[in-house]
Amino acid sequence: MVTPTRVTILGSTGSIGHNTLDVIARHPERFAVHTLTAHSRMDLLAKQAFESKAVAVAVPTALAAERFKTAWGDAPKRPDIRVGAQALVEVASDPASQAVMAAIVGSAGLPAALAAAQAGKRVLLANKEALVAAGSLFMAAVRASGAELLPIDSEHNAIFQCLPHHDRASAPTGPAAGVRRLVLTASGGPFRNQRWAELAHVTPEQACAHPNWSMGRKISVDSATMLNKGLEVIEAHHLFAMPAERISVVIHPQSVVHSMVEYEDGSVLAQLGQPDMRTPIAYGLGFPERISSGVGMLDLALAGRLDFAQPDLKQLPCLALSFLALKTGQGACIALNAANEVAVAAFLDKRLAYTKIAQVIEATLNWQIGQPEASLSSLDDIIALDELSRQAARRAASD
Ligand code: NAD
Ligand code: MG
Repeated sequence: MVTPTRVTILGSTGSIGHNTLDVIARHPERFAVHTLTAHSRMDLLAKQAFESKAVAVAVPTALAAERFKTAWGDAPKRPDIRVGAQALVEVASDPASQAVMAAIVGSAGLPAALAAAQAGKRVLLANKEALVAAGSLFMAAVRASGAELLPIDSEHNAIFQCLPHHDRASAPTGPAAGVRRLVLTASGGPFRNQRWAELAHVTPEQACAHPNWSMGRKISVDSATMLNKGLEVIEAHHLFAMPAERISVVIHPQSVVHSMVEYEDGSVLAQLGQPDMRTPIAYGLGFPERISSGVGMLDLALAGRLDFAQPDLKQLPCLALSFLALKTGQGACIALNAANEVAVAAFLDKRLAYTKIAQVIEATLNWQIGQPEASLSSLDDIIALDELSRQAARRAASD
């Protein structure tokens, strides 16, 4: 009998974490859960750990650990409980698991995702903010350790599937031979047909009501502003070693074509499917084999039509600012991401108007561009600039 691959899920209580557990449960002979981590919802974490027979969990505080114990009750085989931010880094690099799903939201997930890459794991990367903030460092860690990097973001997973044949997932040092351009599709989110200036009074509930995908609240807001597509352009730049000018975005409201690769000979390869994250997750878990994911087949006749349109950058300030950050450099990408996290949290808390998200990002980018150039070669350097950017963003948000 083959021993199942032991998988650790960072951020198991979120949308990606939930879908990962769903796919794993379909293949008990192939995969076993090792560690689950969560920042809140200890009752849900306890339920997940019980059902998946997790060996360990990691939680943020001693209070959360107490809540976990209460939720676990007197059920047998309580998992080992690890506490604190450092515990996340330790479980991500624990030799007892072979694969790590990095599904924490925001740059808070960077240290643990990086630790998994440094430890040479199969890294299933959903946490795009980690690459936006620390793309070069992260990709260098993958190269140095021989980790296998599988992109889980649906666009990047689609591009990975459409790139020239590979049986190993690593960090490329330049664009793949024969590839001219990467084309990321974007649904356009819930406000696709509205002008930016009309959106000042949008509520969190409206912004989170994505027409095609069901996701966590932060990425749902990012999808509405299309800052998400901007983060994805930066993510694609790092994952596929592709210059910014060879990555483009096309609006595709149906979210059936998940992204495309354009080749020198005029061929365009696309990956299509239902908008369900279990497809990229199953691809990452099973690679290079294809395994069932629970996702229904795509019926193109039922879909009827597929539309595509050019994005209007004048109506999408967050996407325009992302292109600017990528051209400016890593410091600007860190500032862009940190400012967005601050602004989106304030918006979700009803402390900031929707349209001010772009203003906070722009002000923070301007602040960063005015700073003397600092070294960003270590995780500590990156975390320090992330924190300073958050302070600048909070100042901008309170103006
Ligand atoms: P979510 O908000 O549903 O879940 C986030 C998870 O991270 C939860 O388990 C939460 O407890 C944990 N977490 C939050 N803050 C934390 C902190 N400070 N420290 C440690 N853990 C923390 O988010 P999601 O929608 O599952 O997205 C997760 C990541 O995957 C994001 O980076 C997102 O951009 C990316 N992603 C998500 C989707 C999707 O369909 N949901 C698609 C592509 C990419
Ligand atoms: Mg995506």
